[in-house]
Amino acid sequence: MPNSLTKFGEYGGQFAPEILMCALEELEEAFNEVLSDEKFWDELNYYLREFAGRPTPLYRAENLSKELNTNIYLKREDLVHGGAHKLNNTLGQALLAKKMGKNRIIAETGAGQHGVATAIAGAMLGLRIEVYMGTEDIERQRLNVFRMKLLGAKLNPVSSGSKTLKDAVNESMRDWVARVVDTYYLIGSIVGPHPYPTMVREFQRVIGKETKEQIMKKEGKLPTAIVACVGGGSNAIGTFYEFLDDDDVELYCVEAGGKGVDTKEHGASLYAGSDGVLHGMYSKLLQDKYGQIQTSYSLAPGLDYPGVGPELTHLYESGRVKVDVITDDEALYAFQRFSELEGIIPALESAHALAYVMKSSDKFDKDDVIVVNLSGRGDKDVDLVAKLMGTRL
Ligand SMILES: *Cc1c(COP(=O)(O)O)cnc(C)c1O
Repeated sequence: MPNSLTKFGEYGGQFAPEILMCALEELEEAFNEVLSDEKFWDELNYYLREFAGRPTPLYRAENLSKELNTNIYLKREDLVHGGAHKLNNTLGQALLAKKMGKNRIIAETGAGQHGVATAIAGAMLGLRIEVYMGTEDIERQRLNVFRMKLLGAKLNPVSSGSKTLKDAVNESMRDWVARVVDTYYLIGSIVGPHPYPTMVREFQRVIGKETKEQIMKKEGKLPTAIVACVGGGSNAIGTFYEFLDDDDVELYCVEAGGKGVDTKEHGASLYAGSDGVLHGMYSKLLQDKYGQIQTSYSLAPGLDYPGVGPELTHLYESGRVKVDVITDDEALYAFQRFSELEGIIPALESAHALAYVMKSSDKFDKDDVIVVNLSGRGDKDVDLVAKLMGTRL
């Protein structure tokens, strides 16, 4: 039975079929056990350090700071092995799966980033990985499909529904129901039924823990504001969590405005969505008046999801985090401008957070300290951006 611990305010919960409840209970129990197991965290921290490259730097963006006449710091999750924050979570969960004696891991993926991050963790820990991916996405993301193959993962194409991420999630849940005994379902963001939102947050919290220590060392004070892009919300909550009780630190979520929030082509679930149930959770979603899930859209594949984690929804409703949107065009401009300014090509997702800071510079003055979580690097997006700029590679 869902209890208050499974929820964030009224959001979250376990809207899962009866047959999954045992699996969720088993998972919750195992997770609660490792939460206080020093050996588990020692081992995870070993891999985070030696394999993933943590801690990541908190880098002062000198040129952008000068241009905006304020102080901008970048939390360099783009330097994590694999090129994004995603490995923090997949390493944690893969290690948990191993502890639980599950030697087959399944994962869903949209653009393939979470599939690749799961395949990396699985290969390193010697676990079997199967990734569900919509056939539409397989067509669009050949590079990541091949990466997964190189890393030894098996691809399970999904041709139901819109043949994209939300259908891949549905298919993964179906698989899990059928093979609960030997299978672990590794979810890629702070979404899904309890305990996933809490668990993924705990594995991503390392971003904010490091950030707090680093900013105190460099500036001797807490930041004025922290900015992160939001797809499902894992890099945002991971960066914010350590600062939730520091009321003076403003927390900004930046969602995908796509072609405009007044069109149907965007991914702004907090900004423009409404309450409902998707993938086992009660949260804010993009849905029509009958509760049918709408397809989301963003140029940034990681922001292209029609829901958002229940904890962020709760923090938004309670006023602790603020939300704004950035369109494709604004993100594309920031992608280019930031690259030439700082010598770092950001992921298109992260470019949304950067675009927000560039656009809002009048909000910040010269003594303010702004931390932007640079969730990933942009190598994966270079092909698409070249095409949009009319350049043939
Ligand atoms: C997947 C991804 C995101 C979005 O996922 P969250 O769970 O919202 O963090 C953001 N940035 C990058 C680089 C990603 O790969």
